Amino acid sequence: MELALFSTRVVVILLLLALHSPCKFIQSPVDFGPLNFLQNVNTASVDFGRILFNSPSAILRPQSPKDISLLLSSLSATSSYSKATVAARGAGHSIHGQAQAHDGIVVEMDSLPANIEIYRKGDEEGGLSYADVSGGTLWIELLKESLKEGLAPRSWTDYLYLSVGGTLSNAGISGQTFKYGPQISNVLQLEVVTGTGVRVTCSPSANSELFYSVLGGLGQFGIITRARILLQDAPQKVKWVRAFYDDFEIFIEDQELLVSRPEIVDYVEGFVVPNEGSLLSSYVAFPANLDFTLQFQGRRRQVYYCLEFAIHDYEQTESAADQVAEVTKRLRHMPALIHSVEVSYFDFLNRVRMEETNLRGRGLWDVPHPWLNMFVPKRGIARFLDMLMETISSEDFEGPLLMYPILRDKWDSNTSAVLPDADASPATDNVLYTVGVLRSANPATCPAECLREILRQNRHIVRTATAVAGGGSPPIGAKQYLPFYSAQGQWQEHFGRKWQRFSARKSQFDPFSILAPGLGIFPRKL
Ligand code: FAD
Repeated sequence: MELALFSTRVVVILLLLALHSPCKFIQSPVDFGPLNFLQNVNTASVDFGRILFNSPSAILRPQSPKDISLLLSSLSATSSYSKATVAARGAGHSIHGQAQAHDGIVVEMDSLPANIEIYRKGDEEGGLSYADVSGGTLWIELLKESLKEGLAPRSWTDYLYLSVGGTLSNAGISGQTFKYGPQISNVLQLEVVTGTGVRVTCSPSANSELFYSVLGGLGQFGIITRARILLQDAPQKVKWVRAFYDDFEIFIEDQELLVSRPEIVDYVEGFVVPNEGSLLSSYVAFPANLDFTLQFQGRRRQVYYCLEFAIHDYEQTESAADQVAEVTKRLRHMPALIHSVEVSYFDFLNRVRMEETNLRGRGLWDVPHPWLNMFVPKRGIARFLDMLMETISSEDFEGPLLMYPILRDKWDSNTSAVLPDADASPATDNVLYTVGVLRSANPATCPAECLREILRQNRHIVRTATAVAGGGSPPIGAKQYLPFYSAQGQWQEHFGRKWQRFSARKSQFDPFSILAPGLGIFPRKL
């Protein structure tokens, strides 16, 4: 009865949509019976990127997964005369409108109750500890709740104010990825509402095709309403070390040395330091005095590299300190340019929040972010860096330039996530580099024309790094992470051999292409 009533109302509204009067979509929230729509769509028209601003016709604030199921089943049932699309929005921290739905409906996942349930090692799930959370839960919320039980997820992103559903739709990577794989390798079970409104519980052993489709699936196959995340014992403290290099080859050799020691090392990242400002800003969250300077001038402008690693300290005994000493004595950083600090596990994981607070205080957080993220095979990383530095201006580069290794064998190839194609040599093939070119475009110093130029540079970098062949040299063979393309042909190239499976999964789970229209991969079907 409820569904019938709702469907009738949605049909009326969809007819309005079909008549191209999107602003009439919602006359009043009461029109929608059990569903809570919002008329003010401003919040869903903007994301962290501040590059695209697509307004939806309405926002749904679901109170339960049932609301999402009602919406999608009604839209599918009435699809013969409605072109409405639906985008789940987690924390809205996409760059290119991935969680936007032009004239469609945005489902704000934070309205679902977080309902975080923590389970300690028991007989269920093979004796593993895990948390069940809503898809709209922020990772910071899960961290706070799980720490009360002395537990925490194993795999993270650098920034924790992102939603579980949002990062699982991409991959979720950070300095722990070399050891535990991305966040999508640390999920035991999902509850998903498919594009046709069917609510399904899925896992590697039940409805596995949907499970693997959704992980890294860019929101294309269903809306994650609940996720079961693996947990492990949380350390109290973390020993956090940074060391500087002026030689790229040595820098990456040392990074690879660290990722070959997962029995000791818990986190490995690194970043390029292209200028003085970049060096200063990298020390906002790292609690050590910047007691050295670096010379950036010279005939061929020098850049530096900072390697970063961490070791968990469970008991605050000497052993973590010994392990740090054992690891650091093998590193070949610039003499004396090494800092080692001890911080709480919470502060370590939440470090980017400190940078956010700093940038907010200077009015530099809510500015355009023409970010670019790439996965680069080891065989192409040196050429990628050369091409990158030739394209961007290292003098006025603003923002972090991350570069660290991850290991292919920690990724499940059944998921929808895309990595560079494997090459013939297993010896080098397992190591991939993640590169984050995380530029900010402060309108005071980088107005619209400058932002356009950065976006043009990004397109050039993507084109050059992903080209299959050309230029006389072997292809770099990179893939975009958090991808964004404007044409379906480019998406097909991006997925490469995975395209057929990706589009077959789309036909199976979202046959009318209602979901995640912001990526522009599949046109809406009637
Ligand atoms: P949104 O932007 O809200 O959505 C992203 C996509 O997922 C959209 O297509 C949306 O429709 C879909 N989606 C959202 N929720 C759901 C759901 N419940 N079910 C199905 N689909 C859904 N990424 C990393 O991997 N590692 C990092 O270290 C990292 N650091 C970051 C730091 C900052 C400051 C920012 C802004 C981003 C960072 N990211 C990082 C990128 C981030 O993981 C992605 O942008 C992610 O999508 C953001 O999550 P969100 O909740 O904001 O997603």
